[in-house]
Amino acid sequence: MSKSFPVLVTGGAGYIGSHAVLALLDAGWDVVVLDNLVTGFAWAVDERATFVQGSVEDMELTERLIADHGIGAILHFAGSVVVPESVSDPLKYYRNNTAASRALVERAVQSGVRHFIFSSTAATYGEPESIPVREDAPKQPINPYGRSKLMTEEMLKDVSAAHPMNHAALRYFNVAGADPDGRSGQSTAGATHLIKVAVEAATGKRDHVAIFGSDFDTADGTGVRDYIHVTDLAAAHVAALEALIARPEDSYTLNCGYGHGYSVIEVLDAVDRVTNRQIKRKFEARRAGDPAALVCDNSAIRSALDWTPKLDDLDSIIGHALAWERTLQDREV
Ligand code: UDP
Repeated sequence: MSKSFPVLVTGGAGYIGSHAVLALLDAGWDVVVLDNLVTGFAWAVDERATFVQGSVEDMELTERLIADHGIGAILHFAGSVVVPESVSDPLKYYRNNTAASRALVERAVQSGVRHFIFSSTAATYGEPESIPVREDAPKQPINPYGRSKLMTEEMLKDVSAAHPMNHAALRYFNVAGADPDGRSGQSTAGATHLIKVAVEAATGKRDHVAIFGSDFDTADGTGVRDYIHVTDLAAAHVAALEALIARPEDSYTLNCGYGHGYSVIEVLDAVDRVTNRQIKRKFEARRAGDPAALVCDNSAIRSALDWTPKLDDLDSIIGHALAWERTLQDREV
């Protein structure tokens, strides 16, 4: 596979972006990271990459970066990701996830960038009518976050039809875990995601874990999700990049998940098993807008890309998240 050009990674100082940067570098790509450091951390960017602090909305900057480095592909992770915040401040989401993406895509097209990979989300489906959910299932997002991402997906389809730039929109399910070699992990403060919250409780940073709802229509009544290891997700981006280069006429919209789910209770049992202790659990009311179960059909990504999961194991996901949590807490002391 020719690696004849460097790639630009926006949001490369964030959780998923920093793991994608590692995967790209490990695969031999030259990487330029653009991140405004609002939620990311400069130390999360591997030193083999070139780091530039700035905004994807700054069209002069992105034009210059693309030209100066000869960027041939963009992996666009930068964006806002907190669902409840998208409800209270929708314009922030339409700005950061839709308008900023539009600005970046315009520069990409004008500068002759041929390949674009976009971080999309299972939130584009809303409450799926049935699971596992396929890519062609109805897209009825139930919050501005999902809508802001779906709009960018639609925009990219139109752009790829009109211009010589193909794209991959990767719909992430529940991303968790950390780099198995301990080089990066989920570092943003004020976590709300279950596995991060649970490892914080396991390391004494929190008193307990709240279980949001026990009356869902699932086997044990708690919410079921498809948890994917962040390192497998990062590898999917490298595979998507290779596919976009190999098949310049094709674009892709692909679910990223393992195709099976775990309930909240199964996740907490696994955390107890991995840590060999019992974290305190408190049953609470359902969180607004939480679907009962969200599990993907991943047959499309398996056939479209050269990608097979390597870390599809809940205990490993939790073990790596826990190791990173300890690293972070040592750093904070
Ligand atoms: N959840 C929970 N307690 C928490 C955080 C999450 O019970 O402290 C549940 C949530 O209701 C959902 C699942 O865990 O059923 C995954 O939630 P998360 O916030 O990790 O991701 P989401 O699926 O909302 O994107």
